[in-house]
Amino acid sequence: MCAFDRRRFLAGAGYAAAALGTGMAQPLAAQDQASRPDASRGTAPAPVTYPRNPVIGIQIDAISFLDEGTEKVLDILQEKAGVNALFMGTFTYGTGITGRQIAGHPLPDHGVQQYQDFSHGHGGDYATPHLEYYKDTALKPIKAPDYGKVDCLELVLPAAKKRGMKVFAWSEDVFGSTIPNIDKFQERDLYGRNAHTVCFNNPDTHKFWLALQEDLIRSYDIDGIMWGSERYGPFCNMIESVHQRKGNDPSRVTCFCQFCQAKAKSRGIDVPRAFEGFHELEKWVKACRAGDRPTDGHYVTFWRILFRYPELLAWETMWNDSVHETYEAIYKQTKSIRSNALVGWHVWHALSFSPFFRAQTDLTKIADYSDYLKITVYNNLGGTRMETYITSISDTVYGDMPIDEALQFEYRVMNLRERGYAELPYTGLSPDYVYRETKRAVDDVKGKKTEIWPGLDVDIANVDLQFSRSSPPVVNECTKACFQGGGQGLVISRKYSEMKLPNLAAVGDALRELKIIA
Ligand SMILES: [Zn+2]
Repeated sequence: MCAFDRRRFLAGAGYAAAALGTGMAQPLAAQDQASRPDASRGTAPAPVTYPRNPVIGIQIDAISFLDEGTEKVLDILQEKAGVNALFMGTFTYGTGITGRQIAGHPLPDHGVQQYQDFSHGHGGDYATPHLEYYKDTALKPIKAPDYGKVDCLELVLPAAKKRGMKVFAWSEDVFGSTIPNIDKFQERDLYGRNAHTVCFNNPDTHKFWLALQEDLIRSYDIDGIMWGSERYGPFCNMIESVHQRKGNDPSRVTCFCQFCQAKAKSRGIDVPRAFEGFHELEKWVKACRAGDRPTDGHYVTFWRILFRYPELLAWETMWNDSVHETYEAIYKQTKSIRSNALVGWHVWHALSFSPFFRAQTDLTKIADYSDYLKITVYNNLGGTRMETYITSISDTVYGDMPIDEALQFEYRVMNLRERGYAELPYTGLSPDYVYRETKRAVDDVKGKKTEIWPGLDVDIANVDLQFSRSSPPVVNECTKACFQGGGQGLVISRKYSEMKLPNLAAVGDALRELKIIA
């Protein structure tokens, strides 16, 4: 059997095991197995009290209602998956949460069998910007051109309310390059060049995020908001502690703009030393990636730079604090306008891969300004992302060890037990991963009022169609794992327009089996 065939064979074995309800094909040590209460392994039933009437949310966008009809879509969501909350894609320039399926990915088994059409432009505010809220910021929203005059929230609010369904306005930190004067708000890299991302420490950007949320919560009878930023800071990006395909340009990391420099100074960071440290790290990364093994090894010389330039870590901390300060400001403002509005965050997948990002993302602290956290636990996509993560960082920090050993180290420090490097893209991560990540988040916020609503992967496609895909038995198990881990809600992700109905029905079946819905 050639290597390729063997991979496929192992992938097939994984699916078969999942279908039988074991979830994992890889043998585990007894202490590892004990972590997840799962009747299928012969252990005692979970000592978890399942929530009553939890939020069962789904990420969805106006196009699905326009393509298929509002009432029909709501019928499908309620009947198949027990959905009682809509997370409406409201502000973004990305393609993950709005629009039809993008070309190259499998079409869904419902709706218009066409890919997203970008000919009218894409992205912006899918509701209606009310400019009076943006008086204090030079960064102004633009109505998304995709669907003409359609306001995504007005489109669904009356029908959703009539059914007792909640509506959340879901916005993400993804900007387009066509916004007038966007260069003034963009981040600057290590060499002062503009990036396509906007800077949290630019006062106009900060005010923009607050204005957007104020506009949404005052202009619409929504039940809450969700906001998220899928970005790493300059340190993680530079050392390749990222789950993007390898090849970050370490000179392009952000942000080093005038506002970030001023904030660093006010925190007592020696700015020239920080720049020097990042330049040293850049040289180190380039040498590592060129295949040079430092005389003292990758790991030791990595730490040598950190000991010499602690300003690197101080800068990274500042960058992440700036994201969390945005959370906090949005939370306080929204609560002051409407105290019963639910305010929470999409906590992106980096939390499952990068130990550095996880260290910077302290859920116990973030809970103080979060009604709920959508913790991303995308199991299917997680396989390729984990494989990509370990591939990237094995060029740098973990360069001293074979990639499979690096992956085992990663699993140990992140408290995961998953497949080997060669199988990962074909199998995805397991329901046990979903359980562990949910439980960890639940334990992190214990004693706080914050609820954990895991973000469940339903048909988030891998670009390579040979790689793992969602299937009803695995979706069923992962749904259960969210609640067995103590989750108090669910956000079916990433968008309805990419989902297949049997997989959506598997969510509903699992909820009925757990007696969470009737
Ligand atoms: Zn900046």
